[in-house]
Amino acid sequence: MKSTLINCLWLRRDLRLHDNAALYHALKNGLPVLAVFVFDTTILDRLDDKQDKRVAFIHQQIQRLQKELETIGSSLLVIHDSPLNAWKKIISEYNVAGVYTNRDYEPYALKREAAMADLFSANHTSFFNFKDQVIFECNEVIKDDGSPYTVFTPYSKKWKQKLKPFYLHSYPTEKYFKHFLKTSPFKIPSLGDIGFNDPKLDFPKPFLSKDIIKQYAQQRDYPSINGTSRLSVHLRFGTVSIRELATEAQKLSETWLNELIWRDFYMMILHHFPHVEKSFKRKYDVIKWRNNETEFNAWCEGKTGYPIVDAGMRELNESGFMHNRVRMITASFLVKHLLIDWRWGEAYFAKKLLDFDLSANNGGWQWAASSGCDAAPYFRIFNPAEQTKKFDPQFKYIRKWVPEFEELTYPLPIVDHKFARERCLATFKQALQ
Ligand code: FAD
Repeated sequence: MKSTLINCLWLRRDLRLHDNAALYHALKNGLPVLAVFVFDTTILDRLDDKQDKRVAFIHQQIQRLQKELETIGSSLLVIHDSPLNAWKKIISEYNVAGVYTNRDYEPYALKREAAMADLFSANHTSFFNFKDQVIFECNEVIKDDGSPYTVFTPYSKKWKQKLKPFYLHSYPTEKYFKHFLKTSPFKIPSLGDIGFNDPKLDFPKPFLSKDIIKQYAQQRDYPSINGTSRLSVHLRFGTVSIRELATEAQKLSETWLNELIWRDFYMMILHHFPHVEKSFKRKYDVIKWRNNETEFNAWCEGKTGYPIVDAGMRELNESGFMHNRVRMITASFLVKHLLIDWRWGEAYFAKKLLDFDLSANNGGWQWAASSGCDAAPYFRIFNPAEQTKKFDPQFKYIRKWVPEFEELTYPLPIVDHKFARERCLATFKQALQ
């Protein structure tokens, strides 16, 4: 016998109960709401690193949500399976009137949803999705002729013109918490149950420091300073609300607001131009990459003999984070100094970044490779020594991650800067003529 009619909230990259669009609509509908999270085996099985930091982060958030739900007499149903199998199970056990989700714009997520359509319609289960992870999605900020922007500055101007308080209103989910399905607690699978080990990391807290944001424009480029929000992982998994952050950004820092707009921008680009494995500017796909594997491995391991590059790569390998300025330097170095295909670097970041997001990562890599929609020109080649002089003049950041950089044991530069610069210019020029 199936239970009474319920609605389900399917949490994906919106792991919070506060100010959550789909949850608000589900609760307001009035039927009891069961919150569900699927540890998607399609994604997990592809991860080689069984200590993947993202999985541990998600697991921690799932436990937090479980506790929050328990305090209101409900629970989180966590299933480790393919989404299709998970939903088959849920629908066979519960009488599900509707499944509520927040929109995810990545190609895999869209495919995953499409695969579920038959199951839901065969069971008369409605599927609802809502805008939640961005302020403006795909077609909300477009040119007057209806086409998408491909350059950031005019996009951001239109974005700001369109922004009215309405778009930043919080969804008062708490008012309707009584509509959560009352149930005894479900057991959450442990990390071991889903085939992973605990990397034992302290993850940053979802806390916005107003002092940091007020100083953001002056401090954001210095990797040794705690001068950026460090909220990217929380934005990635929706453990903070973008509406609340944008509200604060408006009050505290236009420069920081612009960074949040870059996030919307790249998601919009991904929607309109989903073939991210290709260069946005197609002619960049004929560049003759050297793709030297030994050099690639040295870059991955932080052993190029360029201290700022090595510091960034070691920060990434150890913590799952890399400062934005250093992401630009390391990416430029791989693509331009070593002439290694940006897709190799993109894939490495995708494996290692706690905040990995397809749209921002692809956007960042194509920016560095000059092949992107609003990219650095190809002749702009970061000089690691100059970047160090400007942004880490006392080697504080470098010393933290590469303490041996002044010792004899530290490797010699993998390639001479001047030589690499000229080789890059010649290679790009030849391809683009
Ligand atoms: P803050 O400087 O405090 O910015 C606030 C938020 O704005 C960030 O958390 C992020 O959500 C957003 N944001 C900032 N800069 C950008 C940007 N250029 N593009 C899109 N959104 C941005 N960011 C990711 O979230 N995921 C990625 O996978 C990613 N890969 C990158 C790869 C390369 C090669 C480069 C150059 C940049 C990449 N970025 C990526 C953008 C940026 O480096 C990070 O968002 C930022 O360093 C995160 O630190 P923070 O939270 O302190 O950011």
